[in-house]
Amino acid sequence: MSFEEIKGQERAIRILQNEVAAESISGAYLFIGPDGVGKNLAALNFAKVLNCKEGMIDSCDRCSSCQKIDRLCHPDLRSIEAKEGPIKIEQIRTLKRESAYSLYEGKKKVWIIRDADKFTQEAANSLLKVLEEPPPRVVIILISQTKEKLLPTILSRCETILFSPLSSSQIREILKTHVPLDSPKARLIEKLARGRVGEAILLLENKEVLNLREKTLANLEGNLSLEQIFQLAQNWKGLSSDQLERTLDVILSWFRDLLILKQGGDEWVINHDRMDRLKEQSEKYSSSGLSKAIEVVEATKRYLGYRLSTVLTLEDMWLRLRECQPTTI
Ligand SMILES: [Zn+2]
Repeated sequence: MSFEEIKGQERAIRILQNEVAAESISGAYLFIGPDGVGKNLAALNFAKVLNCKEGMIDSCDRCSSCQKIDRLCHPDLRSIEAKEGPIKIEQIRTLKRESAYSLYEGKKKVWIIRDADKFTQEAANSLLKVLEEPPPRVVIILISQTKEKLLPTILSRCETILFSPLSSSQIREILKTHVPLDSPKARLIEKLARGRVGEAILLLENKEVLNLREKTLANLEGNLSLEQIFQLAQNWKGLSSDQLERTLDVILSWFRDLLILKQGGDEWVINHDRMDRLKEQSEKYSSSGLSKAIEVVEATKRYLGYRLSTVLTLEDMWLRLRECQPTTI
């Protein structure tokens, strides 16, 4: 894949290409934007361009360097991500140690750090030291959804490249090669993807994601009894962390839709295929009850990030959501 094939991020890519053309590459970049808009692909492609034997502003995709990066087996391409908790100091120590080695075969050693908003304090401080004196011929690309959780001192040492959600027409352009644009499925995916190409493609290709949404919405549409709440929390214990996060995002989108409808913003509703049910429920809730429900779900997402007991956290969430309802059974 070349820069040219990354959809909807022309501005970000132009900045990177201009720097390559001017040979003024920064030691550290921060790619910021929602998940699924092309940050990871752009980072990999930037690594390819920096090491491509053709030396152009886009990857040739034919040379041995481009092909090794495509297969993720180039010795000068390294990555770090949060696994089982935040990024730890040992991972940054490895970066420091290996950055001091000479290059194996490329022109730049590229470190891609995903989940850059998830550092331990120690790891963040250690990375800061690296960024203060970036090793020569090393390029560090930090990837994050938001800036808010990064240390200001780290932010100030990186060149920030913004990745935006795609417009509806850009998403429709991608969808039309897979489904008829006037089909309910295309409309639903366009809304659910919210400008994220990766999400649109996942929704097209992985039926399980839409099935999980259906099941979650079915729980929200009814009034759960206490027994059902306890059962549901048990059942959800078996979900992977990605599935659980998606499930909570569906719940979040439901309450946001209810609040949006209360404020008369019908066109912004995400779950538009459930409009009748949403309108019915939105009349029953107060705006403050809905704001509270949104806070409850957001807090639950944070708590699960701390690896608290999944079952207890989910039970607590459902019980609190019941309290937000106008009438509790
Ligand atoms: Zn190449």
